[in-house]
Amino acid sequence: MKQANKKIFREFAAQKGLKSTRQRDAILDLFLSSDRHMSIEELYLKLRAKYPTIGYATVYRTLKLFAESGIAREIHFGDGQTRYEHVGRGEHHDHLVCTRCGAIVEFSNETIENLQEAVAEEHGFLIETHKLELYGICARCRK
Ligand SMILES: [Zn+2]
Ligand SMILES: [Zn+2]
Repeated sequence: MKQANKKIFREFAAQKGLKSTRQRDAILDLFLSSDRHMSIEELYLKLRAKYPTIGYATVYRTLKLFAESGIAREIHFGDGQTRYEHVGRGEHHDHLVCTRCGAIVEFSNETIENLQEAVAEEHGFLIETHKLELYGICARCRK
């Protein structure tokens, strides 16, 4: 998936007439090899440890580009942080978010997906995208 995402982004950048920069390549590489659901701040700190001259604004703008190109998804879990996760083409999942420890669990459930389609259809609605987040207390915190 990493190589595929790199290729998708390179094509997107070329189409937009963006010149490739060493910094952007470094951000792309680190982003695709990082855990999912990283906040901009976390990614920035991780990058800065390796590339001390990198600026926050560059990281911010680059992540926006990743999202625009389709290789990343922007997520908000209501804690005021913007997070990004890398996604493969056609891949989809939703999230369980622990309100105590902040753990994020990914899930995908075909029944829920189909139900959403059915609800949309009842309303003559065409779904382009959706986000489903369930908030509560994770298994570990419940012990
Ligand atoms: Zn928890
Ligand atoms: Zn996720």
